[in-house]
Amino acid sequence: MKQCPTLPDAALKCFPASYTDARRQFIEAIQPQENRISIPLDEKLSTEAAWRGPDGAEHVLVLISGTHGVEGSVGAAIQTDTLNRLNNSFPMPGNTAILFIFALNPYGFQHHRRCDGDGIDLNRNFVNFSKPLPQNPGYTELMEAIYLPENERSKRFSEYRCAHGNKAFEIAISGGQYTDPSGPFFGGTAPGHGNRATERIIAHYQLEGRHLAVVDIHSGLGPYGHGEIICDHLPNTAGFRDAMKWYGPATTAPAEGTSSSVQKEGLLDYRWHALMKERGSFVTLEFGTYSIESLFSSVLNDHRAWQSGDAAEIFQSSEHMREHFCPVDPLWRELILVKGRQTVQLALKGLHT
Ligand SMILES: [Zn+2]
Repeated sequence: MKQCPTLPDAALKCFPASYTDARRQFIEAIQPQENRISIPLDEKLSTEAAWRGPDGAEHVLVLISGTHGVEGSVGAAIQTDTLNRLNNSFPMPGNTAILFIFALNPYGFQHHRRCDGDGIDLNRNFVNFSKPLPQNPGYTELMEAIYLPENERSKRFSEYRCAHGNKAFEIAISGGQYTDPSGPFFGGTAPGHGNRATERIIAHYQLEGRHLAVVDIHSGLGPYGHGEIICDHLPNTAGFRDAMKWYGPATTAPAEGTSSSVQKEGLLDYRWHALMKERGSFVTLEFGTYSIESLFSSVLNDHRAWQSGDAAEIFQSSEHMREHFCPVDPLWRELILVKGRQTVQLALKGLHT
């Protein structure tokens, strides 16, 4: 019996086995005449970008993968699926291009981690480093506990939750911190590779002044198989109105408390908001997998394992990270591709309304 009822099984081959596999698939799907740039991190790892459509296109859909390294398997699958469909005569509206940004954090993609090689969570890294960095006293209080074995850590966390409440706990752990490079959700002390690569891509493709629909693809938060469109534009802005109009009533907004995500400092979104001004919208397409407890335990164990330097512990943690951020279940994967296709369609249509 066919495993996936809706899409051809071949479509699921877009889910890569590794960063190297994803990069090969991505490059193979690009056409030779396309305007492509490669931004190396080192001799093996790079961020790639490719442009499909007329050079001077006014409307541009930007599809981003791997902002959180390990989540790149999901983003790359949607990018490859989109490129394959374009190669098979998928109709594009006139005066429109798609810019693919592959593996914004190639180190994390390669090593199955959310952070980059400097420990930076790119989605906390877009802050003004010439000003004092945001403080997170809750993190400072819990920092030691993060590196304890799981059962001791849980006990300390429960005590903190009882004393301060769930929201304070979430902010302490995942709100972002700028003091502990080995720890989770570290925003860095300077722009990371993905931040610098973003600037280079914006300049290379002369994105200033174009009409933009940016979709940054993530996974690991929310109900299993659900694709949530999260809009971090503030209510009463043009970007917010466009996102709601283009992607429909299921679109959620952390500022209004309707999202699985909470408002955060240093998001990649903010760089693109500043670029697009009144012309376009930026959304995060977040695919749910397992529970929030599984998310926290996978990410915290990952930081503990890498801090310890123990190879067996790192290996075990990598396996958990891979499964948490990109389950092997073909039914889950099918849902992701369907939602990915739907989102691409809605963004292209939205750019022309
Ligand atoms: Zn993410």
